[in-house]
Amino acid sequence: MNKDIATPGRTREILEKYGFSFKKSLGQNFLIDTNILRKIVDVAELSDDTGAIEIGPGIGALTEQLARRAKKVVAFEIDKRLLPILEDALSPYRNVRIIHQDVLKADIHRVIAEEFVDVADIMVVANLPYYVTTPIIMKLLTDNLPIRGIVVMLQKEVADRISAQPGTKDYGSLSIAIQYYTEAEKIMTVPRTVFMPQPNVDSAVIRLMKRKQPPVDVDDESFFFQVVRASFAQRRKTILNNLISNLPNGKAMKEKIERILTEKGIDPRRRGETLTMEEFAALSNALREAMH
Ligand code: SAM
Repeated sequence: MNKDIATPGRTREILEKYGFSFKKSLGQNFLIDTNILRKIVDVAELSDDTGAIEIGPGIGALTEQLARRAKKVVAFEIDKRLLPILEDALSPYRNVRIIHQDVLKADIHRVIAEEFVDVADIMVVANLPYYVTTPIIMKLLTDNLPIRGIVVMLQKEVADRISAQPGTKDYGSLSIAIQYYTEAEKIMTVPRTVFMPQPNVDSAVIRLMKRKQPPVDVDDESFFFQVVRASFAQRRKTILNNLISNLPNGKAMKEKIERILTEKGIDPRRRGETLTMEEFAALSNALREAMH
């Protein structure tokens, strides 16, 4: 087996060889701990029939581990300076394809159709650039891609919000958006010392397994998410006051909104963070009927 890229010594050697300087603005914190990398890959449950999509391969620390376990790895990297480094560091692996592109602008459906013709399933596995974790995850989920799930490293604080349950301080519109599409599980927290350079926040690994069906019946998804966002707009306000202030026509509909909340068994004085996803679904279905 080839020498791992993700040791401190080998990483330093590669960076020095190419005179590479980290760009903070691109969230460049590379992993230098092979145990953490193996754990990430284990949790993704790859088989030699799996296609893996990586976002931001850096110098290939995770890419290499994925290449050893998956059938094929397709990785999107925005930083042109990393392309020759990746080509060199990953030269022993024939099953890796690097695409030089901002993943947020990529047509991932097309890439999947072209690159993964004969795979059994597809997993996204990445150590995400922290400045764009939420937009990347939301794109992967709302684009309706044929993926089994996502295993990613991100800021611990965002991982806590994603996996939060009703009634906790971390629960909010992000928890609901992601748990609507996936079963979300925080796998482990990760110390700063496993990165080069060390980020100034703590990190965590989460696993998001895509649901076959949403967990609740929603008549209009975009209105459901509008109601959820409105309900959390000001966390200290009651659900009634948030809906009045933040839904279009909310003020004119005050009595109606109050009546619907009561009809659905939701005390108008409760705060958004106490409502379950089922309650938000029932509420948004009833509001939609009354408002449209
Ligand atoms: N996977 C490597 C590792 O674990 O060592 C590097 C991870 S580093 C946290 C994030 C990587 O994402 C960097 O290589 C950075 O250049 C790349 N990146 C940042 N923004 C990106 C974007 N919008 N699309 C694709 N790659 C991006």
